[in-house]
Amino acid sequence: MFETITFEVPVERVARISLNRPEARNAQNTKLLYELNDAFDKAAADDDISVIILAANGPHFSAGHDLREPDPIGSLKDYDTVGTWCGFSCDGAEGWMAREKELYQGLSERWRNIPKPTIAQVQGKCIAGGLMLVWPCDLIVASEDASFSDNTVSMGMTGVEFFGHPWELGARKAKEMLFTSDSVSAQDAHRLGMVNQVVTAADLESSTLDLASRIAAKPLFALKLAKESVNAAADAQGRVSAMQTAFALHQLGHSHNMQVHGLPIDPRGAGGLVEAPKK
Ligand code: ZN
Repeated sequence: MFETITFEVPVERVARISLNRPEARNAQNTKLLYELNDAFDKAAADDDISVIILAANGPHFSAGHDLREPDPIGSLKDYDTVGTWCGFSCDGAEGWMAREKELYQGLSERWRNIPKPTIAQVQGKCIAGGLMLVWPCDLIVASEDASFSDNTVSMGMTGVEFFGHPWELGARKAKEMLFTSDSVSAQDAHRLGMVNQVVTAADLESSTLDLASRIAAKPLFALKLAKESVNAAADAQGRVSAMQTAFALHQLGHSHNMQVHGLPIDPRGAGGLVEAPKK
């Protein structure tokens, strides 16, 4: 049924969705994001599922967005979009913002609001767009080798579109992460409250499944109400408004790069993954 992810029910009342592009370090293209969204919807709609695990096959959780995807804006025409934004084929900032509002900010916010508990199971590198998959989850279990980074400032950008950094790490660490593009280790992420548990690589799958099973044994409606209550606290602190401001500034960054480099990002920081257009 899915090509870029797998969907299984490893134990009663627990669904596990796994990113399945290990050959591309689980880089996210449009197909993967919509398959992931469909899988989340499938698990959310199934009353026999209480908890959803988001895992990844291969040594790394996700290298971020697939910068090699040809025609990233045009690719949206092949999918039924799930947000209310439109104008994906428009020129300039109008089309680019539409894509990012639908596919990045929109999907991550949508997954954050799935009523059932979600647990990210993270090993290896989780880079940039990878954060937009794990941050919307309620809990994060990381293996000792996991690391988290956002290298988008190196590419002339502000940070990923779902701007969770200050909420996840606190303002100072968020700034260090963004200013340096350095990785945050699983241990530091745990100390700062972004990660719930750090376990050995060998125990990652079983520890996550054990946590999911213990949660899945609780009354589902109580889990939904508890989740909604904690989410409401973050939103009362201004999370949504702050993220909207960050998203607007992010779009300003893309527009600047288009004017200066002819590309939405500064190619000097993209490690050869994109090339400046021939003059
Ligand atoms: Zn962007």
